[in-house]
Amino acid sequence: MNEQTKSQQLIALEDKHGAHNYHPLPVVLERGDGVYVWDVEGKKYYDFLSAYSAVNQGHCHPKIVKALTDQANTLCLTSRAFYNNVLGEFEKFVTEYFGFDKVLPMNSGAEAVETAIKLTRKWGYEKKGIDENEAKIIVCENNFHGRTTTIISFSNDPDARKNFGPYTPGFIKIPYNDIDALEEALKDDNVAGFMAEPIQGEAGVFVPDEGYLAEAKELCKAAGVLFIADEVQTGIARTGRLLATCGNCDCSNGCENKPEIKPDVLILGKAISGGVYPVSAVLANDEIMNVIKPGEHGSTFGGNPIAAKVAIAALEVIRDEKLAENAQALGELFRSEINKLVDESPLVKLVRGKGLLNAIVINDTEDSSTAWDICIKLRDNGLLAKPTHGNIIRFAPPLVMNKEQLLDCVAIIRKTILEFKK
Ligand SMILES: *Cc1c(COP(=O)(O)O)cnc(C)c1O
Repeated sequence: MNEQTKSQQLIALEDKHGAHNYHPLPVVLERGDGVYVWDVEGKKYYDFLSAYSAVNQGHCHPKIVKALTDQANTLCLTSRAFYNNVLGEFEKFVTEYFGFDKVLPMNSGAEAVETAIKLTRKWGYEKKGIDENEAKIIVCENNFHGRTTTIISFSNDPDARKNFGPYTPGFIKIPYNDIDALEEALKDDNVAGFMAEPIQGEAGVFVPDEGYLAEAKELCKAAGVLFIADEVQTGIARTGRLLATCGNCDCSNGCENKPEIKPDVLILGKAISGGVYPVSAVLANDEIMNVIKPGEHGSTFGGNPIAAKVAIAALEVIRDEKLAENAQALGELFRSEINKLVDESPLVKLVRGKGLLNAIVINDTEDSSTAWDICIKLRDNGLLAKPTHGNIIRFAPPLVMNKEQLLDCVAIIRKTILEFKK
């Protein structure tokens, strides 16, 4: 008899009843702890995706899970129609943690991006004096900011866009990492903001040139334009600092040493909850955030007591366990080890990244299945990663990894690449 494994059954179940809006790697997970996950057959893996960098603090971190369950047993949701006794505590904590006057809490990353767009436009009309409906926001080619109709309007990924029009106007797209293009685009007086990812994650971990972000911030300031950093993926210690816009300062908490790179509007999501609960946030100072008045923006779940407690715990873990410093040190080690593999194997063209947000580029055409096939072999060898775009594989383990585990992972990657046959 041709009996299906439990994994095969569960994959078939999703295939039959779920919308086909994802193409997952064939592995069915049922448990997680720290840097590890287990599938339904009991096989153990290193998680090298961390739910797209949402699980920076590791799977099921006991402190964050306790914050969740304690609060869930006390008060879950009041909506913002009433005050609750936890939101203010979170707002004070998170604004002091990142060094801004105010925060606006939402749930998903895309909602926080939408919030930043609305905030920037409103600021453009009410503070900068742009004529009604004329405001523009500069964005970068190959961006990823989420999946709403407005956000995909300024994507240039055909899969994300095609047949989802008509598109929202008001965006100017320029090449990423191109200061001259930014300078040119900023000549338009109707520009209210420039939004960018400090490192383009989904696009394949593209790290801009040293100094790009500082120069971009400087140009925005001179033009009276808000510099909006989407740190949904790069933030919360992932790139070896609390924020990727932090600059090269040593501080592990806040951007005060490099104020010239500090964004006017900061967008956070993913790891702000340690992957335990959907939490996102937009941070800005009073002169910007105060343009939003009661009734003008909101969310039923945004800033709920569970989210507030979970986010405080998740950010405490980042600080208490020095995860930015760990990401920095392990990132250096990872790239130096993988660079040896680049020399050894014609299959790997290069490794790039910052902290523990890294990617390797596979030496094959962008439409080849080689990167996917390598990820299948990595899975067989006990490590889970996924291609981002075409021939690029992103490596983003939980930041609670230790050196021994990281070297174990390097050995798995090395063995997989060296044994790989097309
Ligand atoms: C994941 C991501 C988003 C969207 O977050 P969701 O929670 O999936 O809506 C936005 N921006 C960046 C940079 C991201 O990586």
